[in-house]
Amino acid sequence: VKRNAGEPLFHQAVAEVFESLSVVLERYPHYADAGLIERLCEPERQIIFRVPWQDDEGNVLVNRGFRVQYNSVLGPYKGGLRFHPSVNLGMVKFLGFEQIFKNSLTGLPIGGGKGGSDFDPKGRSNSEIMRFCQSFMTELHRHLGEYTDVPAGDIGVGGREIGYLFGQYKRMTNSYESGVLTGKGLTWGGSQVRKEATGYGATYFVANMLEAKGTDLAGKKVVISGSGNVAVYAIEKVHQLGGTVIASSDSSGYIVDEQGIDLEQLKEIKEIKRGRVSEYAEQRSSARFVEGGSIWDVPCDVALPCATQNELSGDDAATLIKNGVLAVAEGANMPTTPEALKAFREAGVAFAPGKAANAGGVATSALEMQQNASRDSWHFEYTDERLAAIMGDVHERCSETAREYGKPGDYVLGANISGFVKVADAMFALGVI
Ligand code: NDP
Repeated sequence: VKRNAGEPLFHQAVAEVFESLSVVLERYPHYADAGLIERLCEPERQIIFRVPWQDDEGNVLVNRGFRVQYNSVLGPYKGGLRFHPSVNLGMVKFLGFEQIFKNSLTGLPIGGGKGGSDFDPKGRSNSEIMRFCQSFMTELHRHLGEYTDVPAGDIGVGGREIGYLFGQYKRMTNSYESGVLTGKGLTWGGSQVRKEATGYGATYFVANMLEAKGTDLAGKKVVISGSGNVAVYAIEKVHQLGGTVIASSDSSGYIVDEQGIDLEQLKEIKEIKRGRVSEYAEQRSSARFVEGGSIWDVPCDVALPCATQNELSGDDAATLIKNGVLAVAEGANMPTTPEALKAFREAGVAFAPGKAANAGGVATSALEMQQNASRDSWHFEYTDERLAAIMGDVHERCSETAREYGKPGDYVLGANISGFVKVADAMFALGVI
């Protein structure tokens, strides 16, 4: 705690994983040897750098860039870049730490890392975004490589930003190294389904959770927070599987549309105009916008928090439980506070942590790396089938491990233990490094 002072998100993420591990350490005490736990608390490398850039008026602005290369025993560091004013080292460490176990759970050969900047893309012009991305990559490129570290998108970093970052990497290295970034456009090395993967994957996971409870998404009312990349494609897949998404949000408030969110309209506002969800309510008579407030007040059968960390509090969990929620799955990273998590577990609500439920994004990134390495590109249907199969496997791994440790249905325990054991075994095999 002393060494990582002032990093509450990192402490929260580590505590949540380590709480699940006491049963493993009791059963297999050797996991406490070789400084394994201590090594897991310390990233392999942390890079912090200056990002100077010029706005459209010619003013010089300075942001801070981060890349935490956390653990590479299973493969090259892999994890997204976040551009948001709240980004700091502790946040990037929490995300990198989570990423290790998530990537392990996918069953694919990828290590864990994360990065980003406290740059705020909101309200910035296209040219400002491009200049920022170019400056960011001018420093970061020396630390990347398809066998070393492969970033992708996250909050504030979508296809447009990946394009500018990849362009600058290509220019700095004079090589068309497709496998150095994922989330690329389809005509320049990207994979089908990557854009959709995190939202689709979270929905496949929920469908598996409901199946285990003897039901499915058909006819279910679903609330999905956020209206970014993860949320939009979770809405799309929930609708395809017969559920109805009745509420979505952004940082200014939430919209409720009992007829079901019209996704084409929402995509037009969020993806093309880069506008706010309030505009949706202005355009649609069946919808209303609630400024501020909590989206979790809207009664639903299934809740998918897909915006940001700690967005679902203990009080929100109590409201969801009172309203009869059946299942909660984290599309975002750690959106549920420890109090809310405790409440769901005590109430017996099926709850999937982000490292399991949102693993579809990074898994499809690994599929993009496979396609880049073999200079191939797969069809949409085939890639989507691969994603659905991977999410089915992640669900099975979590369920099986929870059963093995006497806690059937405890996806948190299952995900943490299953993700950890694979990483721990590899850390032993590779020696004290
Ligand atoms: P986007 O930037 O596309 O969308 C983020 C959404 O969340 C926006 O609607 C945004 O609203 C809202 N949001 C962000 N920060 C806050 C905040 N502090 N308070 C309230 N709302 C907020 O990001 P993604 O959809 O890519 O990511 C969402 C979550 O999913 C993150 O936790 C991310 O780490 C996680 N994730 C993403 C993956 C991916 O493939 N993209 C993979 C796995 C996990 P506004 O526009 O108003 O800021």
